[in-house]
Amino acid sequence: MRDKGLDGIAATILGCTRCKLHKERTQAVPGSGPATAEVFFLGEGPGAREDELGLPFVGRSGKYLDQLLQGVGLARDRVFITNVVKCRPPSNRDPHVAEVEACAPYLERQIELIQPRLVVTLGRFAMGRFFSDGTISQIHGQPRRVDDTIYLPLYHPAAALYRGSLRSVVEEDFQRIPALLDAS
Ligand code: URA
Repeated sequence: MRDKGLDGIAATILGCTRCKLHKERTQAVPGSGPATAEVFFLGEGPGAREDELGLPFVGRSGKYLDQLLQGVGLARDRVFITNVVKCRPPSNRDPHVAEVEACAPYLERQIELIQPRLVVTLGRFAMGRFFSDGTISQIHGQPRRVDDTIYLPLYHPAAALYRGSLRSVVEEDFQRIPALLDAS
C-alpha cells in the first residue's frame, strides 16, 4: 500500500476482500475529493445509495452534509470525503470492530497522502479512530491538534436528521470549521 497514490488505493479498495462486508456490497466506496483537499471528512460507512452509486454521502445524510458545507463556504469538490468502512454494512448495521480494523490501512494511507489540515469526524465510529476519551456527547465540537493536523469530532449528520434537537448543535459545531482553518 505504501507505494500507492489515491487512485491506486481506490482501485485496491474496489477489489478488496479483507472482511466479510465485500460479500454483500454492490460496490465499494473508496471516497471522493482531490489529493490537495485541506479538509478531510470521515463518516461511518456507505448506505444504500452510496453502495449503489459508489460515492460517499450521496443519500439523505449526504444532502444534509452538502447544506452544512455550503453554510461554511466549503465547496464539496474541494474537500475529501470518505468513511471508516468502505463497504456498506448490511441493513446499515454498525460496522464490527474486525471490519473497521480491516479497513484501517486504507484510511491511514488516504490521510497520509492528502495531509489535510483538518480532519472532521462524523459520528462515533469515525471519532473512535482518533479520540479514545469521552463520548460524542461530551467532546463534540472540541478540536484537538496533533502535530500539524486538527481533529474535530462532530455528530453524524444522520443523528441530526433522526433527532431534530441535534440539528442546531451540529450546525453550531460546523461553524467552528472556518476559524480552525484560519488558525491552522
Ligand atoms: N453515512 C455515512 O456515514 N457515510 C456515507 O457515505 C453515507 C451515509
